[in-house]
Amino acid sequence: MLRRTKIVATLGPASDDPDVLRQMINAGLDVVRINFSHGDADEHRMRVQQLREVAKAAGREIAVMGDLQGPKIRLKRFKEGKVNLDDGQAFFLDSKLGKSDGDATGVGVAYDDLHKDVAPGDVLLLDDGQITLRVESLKGTRISTTVVYGGDLSDHKGINKQGGGLSAPALTDVDRNNIKLAAELEMDFLAVSFVRNAADVTEARILLHAAAGGYGRIVAKIERTEAVECIDEIVKAADVIMVARGDLGVELGYEHLTGTQKNIIRSTRRMNKVVITATQMMESMISSPTPTRAEVSDVSNAVMDGTDAVMLSAETAIGEYPIEVIKAVDSVCKGAEQHVLAKGRTTHRLDDVFTEVDEAIAMAVMYTANHMDVKAIIALTESGSTTLWMSRIRSDIPIYAFTPHAATSRRVNIYRGVYPVDFKIEHEDVQQLYRDIFAILLAEDMVAEGDLVLFTKGDLSGVKGSTNSMKIIEVTANYQ
Ligand code: ATP
Ligand code: MG
Ligand code: MG
Repeated sequence: MLRRTKIVATLGPASDDPDVLRQMINAGLDVVRINFSHGDADEHRMRVQQLREVAKAAGREIAVMGDLQGPKIRLKRFKEGKVNLDDGQAFFLDSKLGKSDGDATGVGVAYDDLHKDVAPGDVLLLDDGQITLRVESLKGTRISTTVVYGGDLSDHKGINKQGGGLSAPALTDVDRNNIKLAAELEMDFLAVSFVRNAADVTEARILLHAAAGGYGRIVAKIERTEAVECIDEIVKAADVIMVARGDLGVELGYEHLTGTQKNIIRSTRRMNKVVITATQMMESMISSPTPTRAEVSDVSNAVMDGTDAVMLSAETAIGEYPIEVIKAVDSVCKGAEQHVLAKGRTTHRLDDVFTEVDEAIAMAVMYTANHMDVKAIIALTESGSTTLWMSRIRSDIPIYAFTPHAATSRRVNIYRGVYPVDFKIEHEDVQQLYRDIFAILLAEDMVAEGDLVLFTKGDLSGVKGSTNSMKIIEVTANYQ
């Protein structure tokens, strides 16, 4: 059974064994995330290189997403790599403490002005809210706190202040360098952390495309209160929205997270953009082979909300079960998709005026598909934009993007319900074009003899061109 929702997984030490990576791909991985917050440029290069080799051997096009650090404030390192904090104990943060001098009494922070941005009584959350500290007093650069909720704390974890207000402009000097690396590594997506407004997104786009010569699509990570307040302008400026629930939950208060997630998913899809739901999707699977019921329910809800993709972080980067977690997400998505009731009758953009021919065709296709017994939609596409428009409409009919461009295949991989097929469109004879397409569809069991399928493509002669036609055909091996 095809899964409509796509899976993004963060690469890290846990997925560095090529055999593990191969099994992750076989289990259904669609997009990998390289987090520029952890590891150096050589590690990132090595991971992208290896991913491409393993994906090629597996015959799959896997997209690569680079994720910029942004102005996230992070801990320095611990002497032992990690400590365990008890509830009620004292713990200090100090920007002057050495790089690897942390222990159970306190740790360095990689932000010189932290002591100026906090006051006694403030609540600090570490590691996406896993650990809670209350600020007691300040002396010079040293911030003395009491541990409210303790637990394991390891190197480089992030710090945020409840209610927000800790962090600075979205793109740091480190980010600017990593944008160049993203272009060099031909990454398909670039995620921008802690965006505040549309200008932050546009700046990243200019830096990647005009300055560095990259082609990746821009992902805006929504993790600040300010971003939620101007979500529409950010959606317009970005290609993809990521609901980055870690820091977002800290800033908004976790009780507002679920409602905000649902609103962002709905409005992003309505504005013809793509949306990823991220952070702590299957967190317990870092150290357990099966998810909790709460996690199953969380992933299912994101699927039912209509997210294009769900994302795994530490689960696949440092977890003990990187393959099993992909299998678990795969099966939970498939299960939840069977219960999505919104099939057919759509009001998506019913009152809109379309300005582009290909957009109008895409809408006509989906209207037809949802009102007729059609088994598949086949789009011959250059950039994939037709399939993006079509996949904004809820439907359970697979959309196959037949494209000669590997970059398009990788990009559409993140669209819900869209599946890339490598296909050279060099046909003089349109009958031959259909015969070739049917041969692939039948060989891969995508359709059966006698099924009705919908085609969208350019010029009916079969030559390249922007999409301007729709055709309904019955599948047969010897199409005349
Ligand atoms: P972000 O805010 O960008 O999500 P993060 O610290 O939460 O940053 P994730 O990529 O979400 O990072 O991964 C969660 C945890 O997994 C990290 O805190 C880190 O401990 C670990 N991790 C992720 N990637 C790597 C890596 N490449 N090397 C080592 N550890 C990693
Ligand atoms: Mg984050
Ligand atoms: Mg994270």
